[in-house]
Amino acid sequence: MKILVPVKRVIDYNVKPRVKADGSGVDLANVKMSMNPFDEIAVEEAIRLKEAGKAEEIVAISVGPAKAQETLRTALAMGADRAILVETDDEVEPLAVAKILKAIAEEEQPGLVMLGKQAIDDDSNQTGQMLAALMQRPQGTFANTVEIDGDSVIVKREIDGGLETVKLTMPAIVTTDLRLNEPRYASLPNIMKAKKKSLDVKTPADYGVDTAKRLTTTNVAEPPVRQAGEKVEDVDALVMKMKALGIA
Ligand code: AMP
Repeated sequence: MKILVPVKRVIDYNVKPRVKADGSGVDLANVKMSMNPFDEIAVEEAIRLKEAGKAEEIVAISVGPAKAQETLRTALAMGADRAILVETDDEVEPLAVAKILKAIAEEEQPGLVMLGKQAIDDDSNQTGQMLAALMQRPQGTFANTVEIDGDSVIVKREIDGGLETVKLTMPAIVTTDLRLNEPRYASLPNIMKAKKKSLDVKTPADYGVDTAKRLTTTNVAEPPVRQAGEKVEDVDALVMKMKALGIA
């Protein structure tokens, strides 16, 4: 079985984003970029399935600028077998990514497409669901546990207040949640080996997909600054304060 793992190059999760002065978006100039954390979890899960003998090949895919090659090399260093960069400098929305992934899936015929539940830059949480709809295949989103059972995949999903188990006939789409696993770091020898692995470069036009934007961002603003707190002497003083504020 083959697993496709789409990985997005996003602003690093440790970086505090700055909003551009004109409110048109987040300033990405000179900002550290990394693989979307949920996609690292997807790569890790695919590698674990391969190590368990449940998968034969892992193909990492990224849609983005030439620099997204670095993200793909990271996936290859972790353990993916080969990579496809669909190169574009456009800001690509989830629907266009899903259409590109569908075209690649038609060529590659994977048993699973394992995506992150969301990209931490746009927080869309849409691509996996759109891909499942376009491909008319079952989806197991917010995966906490993934288990292959013959020609099915059993996904325990994180839902409000618990876990829901779904059994999907493959080919299927899975999106990863935070607690699925802890991704490994790529070792130095594997980083070196990754440089020799195959990385194909394509364009959205190769897959017949038009990446023109369908959405308009009207404004991006910083969250309101939090009011400073106040220290009180003891519990009595706290209760007095709360009464004064009408919350006790
Ligand atoms: P989103 O719907 O934008 O929150 O993204 C959900 C998931 O779709 C991500 O975690 C990735 O696995 C995948 N994805 C989204 N955009 C891209 C992209 N440009 N390249 C590769 N994968 C992507």
